[in-house]
Formats: sequence, C-alpha cells, structure tokens
Amino acid sequence: MLEYAVVGSGVGGCSIAAYLDAKGYKTVLFEKDSNLGGCSSTFTRNSYMYNTGATTLAGYKDGHIVKSLFDSIGYKPKLLATDPAIVIIQNGKTSPRYRDLEKFLTVVEQNYPHPKNREFWTLVYELNKKFYSIDGYYYSNSSFLKKALSLLSYTPIFLKFFRYFSVNAKTFLDHFFGGIDKEYLDFLEAQIMIVAQAKSSEINFFTCALALGYTFNETHYVYGGMGALFDGMSADMKDVRVNSEIKKIEKKEGYYKLYTKDEVIEAKNVILNSTVYASAKLFDESSIQNYYKKYEKLDNRQSSFMLYVTIKSDVEFAHHYQIIQDEKFEGSISNALFVSFSDKDDEQIAPKGYYSITASIHTDVRFWQKDADYKAKKERLKNLLLESLMKNLDIQTSQIIDCISATPSTFAKYISRSQLGGNAITMKNFLPFLPSNDTPIKGLYNVGDTVYAAQGWPGVMLGVNNLKKLLHV
Ligand SMILES: Cc1cc2nc3c(=O)[nH]c(=O)nc-3n(C[C@H](O)[C@H](O)[C@H](O)COP(=O)(O)OP(=O)(O)OC[C@H]3O[C@@H](n4cnc5c(N)ncnc54)[C@H](O)[C@@H]3O)c2cc1C
Repeated sequence: MLEYAVVGSGVGGCSIAAYLDAKGYKTVLFEKDSNLGGCSSTFTRNSYMYNTGATTLAGYKDGHIVKSLFDSIGYKPKLLATDPAIVIIQNGKTSPRYRDLEKFLTVVEQNYPHPKNREFWTLVYELNKKFYSIDGYYYSNSSFLKKALSLLSYTPIFLKFFRYFSVNAKTFLDHFFGGIDKEYLDFLEAQIMIVAQAKSSEINFFTCALALGYTFNETHYVYGGMGALFDGMSADMKDVRVNSEIKKIEKKEGYYKLYTKDEVIEAKNVILNSTVYASAKLFDESSIQNYYKKYEKLDNRQSSFMLYVTIKSDVEFAHHYQIIQDEKFEGSISNALFVSFSDKDDEQIAPKGYYSITASIHTDVRFWQKDADYKAKKERLKNLLLESLMKNLDIQTSQIIDCISATPSTFAKYISRSQLGGNAITMKNFLPFLPSNDTPIKGLYNVGDTVYAAQGWPGVMLGVNNLKKLLHV
C-alpha cells in the first residue's frame, strides 16, 4: 500500500509530493489537468506558450523556505534575478520597485512626494527583513489542545509585532501619513492587493507591510515558464499521473481508497491540494464533509480575469508591470492590471523576437456565470485590457500575434477552482480561523493557498513547511 496519495499538483501538492518521494516514502501525485502546477502552471494554445497565473518566484534565497525545499529534493531551477521586481505605471508616471531601499526612495519621492516617505518605507523594509528571519512557529488544527499549543508558538512573533497586528492598515496609513491623496493611495492599494489579496481597510498593518515590501526581497524570473519548476521538482518522482482526476475518496480503517474514473488506489495518508471549498464533495462521509463545509464561508468569490498575448517586438521590456488607472475596468473589481513579459532571451517560452505576456486583473466569480451574456462580456473585458496594455506599453496592433483570455469559469474547467488567490488574511479571517495542514481526521491533510499560511510561492511553502513538521518527515 502507498504511504501518501497527493491529490493535485499545485505549488503545495507538487512540492510536498516531491519531498516525500525524495525521502523514500511511497508516494503518488495525481493531477486532473494535462499540465502540472495549477495556478502556477504553463500551457500551450495556438502553438504559443503562456504562464497560467503566477509569473514571479519569490523566496528563492539561502535560508528561505522556497529554496530550502528545492535544495532538499536536489533541484536547482534555472532562474534570473528580477530587479526592479515590478514597474508601476500610473498617470504617465513610471515607478520601478527596486530592491534597494534608497534607490526606491528616490523614485517614490519624485513621483509621490511626502515628508513621511522615508520613515514609512523604512518601516516596511525593516518589518519584512525581521519577519522572514523568524522560525520555530507552527500551526495545527487536529484537536483543540494541539491548536492551542501551536498558537502559543507564535508568542515571539506576536510580542515583537503586536502593535502592527492589532491595527487596521487603512487606519494606520491615514494616521501615519496624516492623509494622502487618491493617487498615492491607489498606488499603495494596488500593490497591497497583489500579495494580501485584500484592501488596506480589511487587513492589519503587519500583513500590509509584508505585501508592500515583498519587492525588497529577492524575486526571480523562471526560464521556460513557471511550469518548468514543476517539471523540475517532479523529474525524479516515481509515480506522477497527469490527466488523472480523483473523483471520490473513501475513508477505511487505517487507510483511504481513492477513485479515478478507471482505477482505485489505496494509501495510508491523503494530502489534498484541492481548495478547502471544493474538498467536501470528494467524500461521502458526513463528518469529513462537515469539516470542510465549515470553511466554505472563507470563500470570498474573488478571482482573476486573464489576458494571454504573444507579440513580436524588438523593444526590451521589464519582466513585470502594474498599470494603475483611476477607474475600475468594467467587468473587474480593480483599477490595476498586472502584466508579465517573458524574458527576451527565453526561447523556451517564446521564439527570438517574440514575447509571451500574461496579464491579470481581479474580478468576482459571480460575474462570470455562463449565461447568454458570457461571451460578449469576456470579449469586452479582453479588448479593454488589451487596449490599456497597448497604450501604456506602446505596443501596436500589427505586433499582436495571438491573444486569448480566461475567466474564473475557465479555471474551474481546467483546475477545478474558480476562486483564485486563496484566503485573504483579513482582520476577520486570521490564524485561529484558518484551516491548517492537518485535520482532526486521521491521515487526512491539506496544502495550498486556501489553507495555512497564505497564497503565492512563499505563502503556500510556509504551509508545506508546516505540514513537514506535523508529519515529522
Ligand atoms: C493570476 C494570478 C497571478 C498570480 N501571480 C503570482 C505570482 O506572480 N507569484 C506567486 O508566488 N504567486 C502568484 N499567484 C498565486 C499562486 O499562483 C497560487 O497561490 C499558487 O499557485 C496556488 O498553489 P496551490 O498549492 O494552492 O495549488 P493550485 O494552484 O490550486 O493547484 C491545485 C491543483 O490541484 C488539481 N486538482 C484539484 N482537484 C483535483 C482532483 N480531485 N484530482 C486531481 N487533481 C486535482 C488542480 O487541477 C490544480 O492543478 C498568482 C495567482 C493568480 C491566480
């Protein structure tokens, strides 16, 4: 019998499966889609390759959880350091988010002058450096006692940062700056949204500072697209099955039975990388269904609308841009478009002289029900975003070679989730209310951005690291 069956090959599923396999545990990894990686995969359409969602790898440096996991399975990805991490375009102003604090302060002072800028950005910088150097905490949810004990492990963090945890970020910003204009606030909010997946009014200042400061940490471009990381991580694994959806799971005495459409697999432990909102339907047993159902309320129905474009151009583009306009784009819930370009020398993803572009904007799942209007709405938003992209980055119609779009319904079809970006860590949904990587059900575990700790590579990897501790592997 298998030791571990991992259901889903997103950041969480693929990395824990690769780790367990490398440690010698008999492990199988199931993926419904034809590509590994879920929201961080790479796909091919009309002969062109695109990153599905994620485009930036954060956390690949010595001592950081992302690199530590790769190191532990002996995988060395082909990466390129990205600095500035993003170039922000707003009202014709261009603000590169350099890693170096002084270099960035020069930009921010020029484009958004304020007497408190130095003090504010230094605080954001310091909080980021301090947080990522703390270790020794974990989060369990398998029983009331274990949960209480695990929460105690956060005492050093709470003591160190309490004054920032306990205050709402919007209140803090208002008080700190003594009022800032709409343009500067939009500049901050758009960046907060990338990492925190929420507005400053919904989160505490500590989460806000981590979101605003991720660009001070090392970020990397992945050669060949994000999907290359999953091919790399799984290269030595003995049992990886794509196009293999787990339809049903039965809990037996001391083991689980997992059903695909044409086979049944038995494993002592199951690790689910499906979202917690979708996991209940995999089981018939009411106690397990009820466990997952109680987390369905965390589903904020937030998601992304995607634009995938191939262009032909000799211009050298940055890897990432964020275009901020004054008003929301119709059909979205945001005024900011995140745009990522392939590297000019990355011929694995786009031929020489071509760029593969992945652009995304926040939207609401409920806006994208497949009704009579769906196709027209999709075309409208696709054209609006393309127009903004072309205008802000000076791209001509004649340079567009391919252009497609995707809605939350497209994600549901391919990777069984329409909510994207995971659980936002808001003032209401913080640690004790989040599902953990363990459960009260023996042998049943979770990983991914809808459980502890958060979304994105660093957030999901914190969860993988936590799971490693809980499994004692
Ligand atoms: C538009 C967008 C841009 C982003 N940009 C970045 C970025 O630049 N950097 C960053 O770090 N993060 C980014 N993120 C966030 C990041 O992509 C996600 O947080 C992360 O990839 C989620 O990983 P996960 O482990 O939750 O797995 P998921 O991505 O949710 O993947 C889960 C996998 O499980 C499979 N699955 C589900 N159910 C079953 C089943 N029953 N049987 C078999 N397989 C199943 C699915 O098909 C899927 O492949 C972005 C997200 C989006 C949407």
